Amino acid sequence: MEVIGLRSVWSTLFLAQGYIACYIRRVIGLTKPVERVLFFGIDGATWTNLAPLADRGEMPTLHKLMATGAWGVLDSTIPALTPPAWTSLITGANPGKHGIYHFRHTPPGDYFQRRLNTSRDIHGPTIWQRLNQYGKRVGVINVPLSHPVYPVDGFMTSDAFSPDTSGVKTYPPELAASEFKDYIVDVANYPGALPGSVRYAREMLAFIEENKRVLVSQTDTALRLMRSQQWQFFMVAWMATDRLGHYCWKYSDPALEQSLVTDEQKRLGARCRKVYRQIDSQIARLLEAAGNDCLTVIASDHGFGPSPSAFFHMNRWLLERGFLKLLPRWHWKRASLGYLPRSLQSRLGAPIDAKFALVDWQRTRVWADPLEARATAIRINRVGRYPQGIVTESESEPLLTQLANELSELKTPDGRKVVAAIHRGDTLFHGPHAVTAPDLVVILEKRFDVPPNFRRDVRANKLVVPNRQVLRDGGHEPEGIFLLHGPNIRPAGRLPAQPIVSIAPTILAAMGLPIGDDIDGKPVTAAFTSEFLNSCPPRRESEPSGAVVSTPSSQPEYSNEDSAKIEERLRKLGYLD
Ligand SMILES: [Zn+2]
Repeated sequence: MEVIGLRSVWSTLFLAQGYIACYIRRVIGLTKPVERVLFFGIDGATWTNLAPLADRGEMPTLHKLMATGAWGVLDSTIPALTPPAWTSLITGANPGKHGIYHFRHTPPGDYFQRRLNTSRDIHGPTIWQRLNQYGKRVGVINVPLSHPVYPVDGFMTSDAFSPDTSGVKTYPPELAASEFKDYIVDVANYPGALPGSVRYAREMLAFIEENKRVLVSQTDTALRLMRSQQWQFFMVAWMATDRLGHYCWKYSDPALEQSLVTDEQKRLGARCRKVYRQIDSQIARLLEAAGNDCLTVIASDHGFGPSPSAFFHMNRWLLERGFLKLLPRWHWKRASLGYLPRSLQSRLGAPIDAKFALVDWQRTRVWADPLEARATAIRINRVGRYPQGIVTESESEPLLTQLANELSELKTPDGRKVVAAIHRGDTLFHGPHAVTAPDLVVILEKRFDVPPNFRRDVRANKLVVPNRQVLRDGGHEPEGIFLLHGPNIRPAGRLPAQPIVSIAPTILAAMGLPIGDDIDGKPVTAAFTSEFLNSCPPRRESEPSGAVVSTPSSQPEYSNEDSAKIEERLRKLGYLD
């Protein structure tokens, strides 16, 4: 007991010494942590196109920030999907801790994705909730999974994945009416006409234009709030790069400019680059309003790249190998819910995924849940974990080894490798929500994608089929971006890639605040000046007492109708079947 007591006295003294040194240097003006942070969240932004656009003068503000700040690749979550990636970015924790693996929510012990995830499903504090604990006022605009909004010291808005995007919801609620009059939540009209058709160019130009309008309206509002509200942390997330990435990748990447040959293609390319120039000038507007004493953070949840040219049908492979079994063709379950239209299924409260009516769980050992970004989750039907589990604990490990071996050897009929990487769920994910984690996350080679539709996946007559989706030509890649600029940040230029969980602790360190023990990431110390690191070295600390602000339980869950509305939009982006 005495030893433990002495240890805690010493560690308290050690911590106090850190605080005192930091305080003295601040008082005598040697160096001090930043008082304010301006955070640009740019969904799906990637250096693949931003760096060349900055280099050739089309994004001058970004070019300046890159030349005088520290930047690099931000490695997304595995898989590189918007909900887990943003949640890891704003919490500094892995999905095993924060509980968000996908757009859709699978309860523990359930086979099915029952509903969409919301802000209420995020376990653990966000960076703005942590900052609130230290008395910092925050403003948070449009960050994915912010619906329903909840009380913060400052303000926050709902996001583009809210059921009703015709208007924004805010905390405090009255702010929506006074400050968000011209605010547009998201694009409402997605192109539907295929390339080569008469309507294609018209719909694409309208879509690009609408993305620009959304961006400018959100910046106008941000600018107003930045001036009218007190804040120490201000964050705005823009979706334009993600929307353009999905529908206009070939028009957005300077490396593909040579492939734009027709007048129509060149025109679309020019319009897309105009949106990127707009992004640059919106960054400039907010930077100017924020002033020089502010730390600037730019980060994306994942990167982008061209869509793979083929689909690999993982569930068909599992079926062929005997791991997965389907119910007989005329089984009553298949004849009922599984064949109803999706919107009606949602209204009836059916699980979101279509495999409900197909899988014979009593004979299935393994199945694959398609994710995004060339990733699929492999799940073992374990006894005790699933209601109709058939694989015992002692059988699980040899089965996982067998699957990993077979998958890594997998080749297409013409001899091409299919799988790029296999990650074990128990190494990727840890924490109280690791119980719903996949057993394996399999990443396919760049040329292969995973079809989001389970029914099509098991019914495909070949393992590999060409990707005939020509309208959405871009998909997520794991390499997102980060950039740090401002007081105490050195002009380090390009740094090695950092994990997505490093951004939240970097913000805490820059503000001279302790980094909670529950944060998985480490601050990007290579970005800070040595003077700052000597004066105020980043320090770990267990959470201060007092509960973290949580979302109020009085907030309603999504209704089935709400869920159907969001699903419809996610389908347009290719995330759901
Ligand atoms: Zn995203």
